[in-house]
Amino acid sequence: MTGVCSRLLNLISPQRCVSCGLRLAPGEDIVCTKCNLRLPRTLYHEDPYENAMATMFWGRMKTERCAAFLFYNAGSEAGNIIYEMKYHGHPEIGRKMGHKMASELMDSGFFEDIDLLIPLPLGKNRLRQRGFNQSAEIARGVSEVTGILVGERIVSRTQFRESQTHKGRWERNENVKDAFRLEDASPIRGKHLLLIDDVATTGATLIACGTELLKAEDTRVSILTLAYAKS
Ligand SMILES: [Zn+2]
Repeated sequence: MTGVCSRLLNLISPQRCVSCGLRLAPGEDIVCTKCNLRLPRTLYHEDPYENAMATMFWGRMKTERCAAFLFYNAGSEAGNIIYEMKYHGHPEIGRKMGHKMASELMDSGFFEDIDLLIPLPLGKNRLRQRGFNQSAEIARGVSEVTGILVGERIVSRTQFRESQTHKGRWERNENVKDAFRLEDASPIRGKHLLLIDDVATTGATLIACGTELLKAEDTRVSILTLAYAKS
């Protein structure tokens, strides 16, 4: 849809809250004020080294800071937002939620000394099907707030296998282990990277991708996701 068309449409039918579906008031964006207050924030950035998500990586991959903005359950507020973004074709939700997340984390020092944002890549087929990479959109929003650049084509996804939702934790680990490939080590040598994804569940995908990034010399990896689902 062209910009003019979508602006006209917004005049006729203003945007709705992606969480509760009510019309947004002027000045509200993505979620209404009421839903925004109710969003289940993890506050993991207040303890970025030892929160529940950070400890999930212990012994599996060397990480620096780890945080997620919201707790995720299917059908929950965060679940609705992510579902709207991914399955109803709304990349702008990713960007705006990334912006919102970074704004709330900015003063905590979470982004301190981070050199580059790395969105978790999507496989080609999935990218073609969806039309956008939600992690890249989230990273764009984070970049707008922090001024940290987004690293493109540093790492690629070499394959996409069947949906992982019905598999156990270790089976999932196996499935994604070789799914990523470091394409270009030179821009990330000696850098502190922030790996960005929409939802962390078992951590298997983040570990597979992060492990590739750590193959570059003197690289450090921190992790930030829009949501965290306890597995
Ligand atoms: Zn709402």
